[in-house]
Amino acid sequence: MPELPEVETTVRGLALYLDGARIERVTVNRPGMRRPFPPDLMQALTGATVTGLGRRAKYGLIHTDRARSVVFHLGMSGRWRIDPAEPDRHDHVVIDTATNRFALNDPRRFGWLDLADEAALESWGPFAAMGPEALGEALSAQHLRAAFRGRKQAVKLCLLDQRIVAGLGNIYVCEALWRAQIHPRKAAGKVTGPQLARLVPAIRDVLGESIADGGSTLRDYAQPDGNLGYFATRFDVYGRTDAPCHRCHETLGGIVRRIVQGGRSTWFCPKCQK
Ligand code: ZN
Repeated sequence: MPELPEVETTVRGLALYLDGARIERVTVNRPGMRRPFPPDLMQALTGATVTGLGRRAKYGLIHTDRARSVVFHLGMSGRWRIDPAEPDRHDHVVIDTATNRFALNDPRRFGWLDLADEAALESWGPFAAMGPEALGEALSAQHLRAAFRGRKQAVKLCLLDQRIVAGLGNIYVCEALWRAQIHPRKAAGKVTGPQLARLVPAIRDVLGESIADGGSTLRDYAQPDGNLGYFATRFDVYGRTDAPCHRCHETLGGIVRRIVQGGRSTWFCPKCQK
C-alpha cells in the first residue's frame, strides 16, 4: 500500500513533467473509483495550466491556475503511469499535455481523485481535522505530549490517528517506534519525556530515508512504460517476524515479534522497546 514516501516520490516524479504544463485533454474512463469523480472534472481541467505539485499527508495535490486543485489518493494499489506505451484497462483518468500522458492506474480502485477549492484547501473534507504533517515543523515532542496526555490507548494506535499526526501509516509507525525504543502497546499517556524526544526525529528519519531511497527510482518515470516501481526499503522490524533485532540481538538476544493491534500487524522487539 502506498505510504507517505511513495506519495511524495509520486508527486516529485509528476512534477518533473507536469509542473508548468497546460492540460490539453482529460479522459475519464469510468464514473469513479472509491468515490465518483466530480462531474465537471474534464471541464474544470481542460485548458488549465499546472502551477505546482504538492502533498498533504498521503494525498497528492496538483495545483492549477483555476480556482480548484486536483487531490488524489493512491488507495491500495494506485499509481500514475507517465507516457505509457499501451493503454491499460485500469487507467481510470488520463491527462494529456502537449508533451506527455499521465494515467491514474488502480486495479483495486480504493484510490480516488477529486477537485478541491484552492482557497479553502485546509478545510477541505479529509484535511479539515488533520493534525500536523509527519514531516512538518509543527510536529514536536510538545505536540505529542499534549496529544497523548492521559490517553490509555496504545501509542501505536495513537500515531496512526491522522488527527494526531497526518500521513503516518503502519510501516513507518512500526519503524519509528523501534528507533525510539518505545513498546507499541505502551499507553500513549505513559510515554516518557525522553521517549517523546526520540520519537519525533525517529519519525522524520524513517520517512526521510525512505523518500531519499525513492528519489533514486525517479529515473524510472522516463521509461516507456512509465511505471512507478515501489522501492524496497530495508526495514528494521516491518515484516521481519522472528528475525534477529538489528539493535540488540547480539547483546540481549532480541527477536522481532508480530502482534495484532486494531486489526493490523505490528512488528517490534520485546527486548529493547520499553
Ligand atoms: Zn531489540
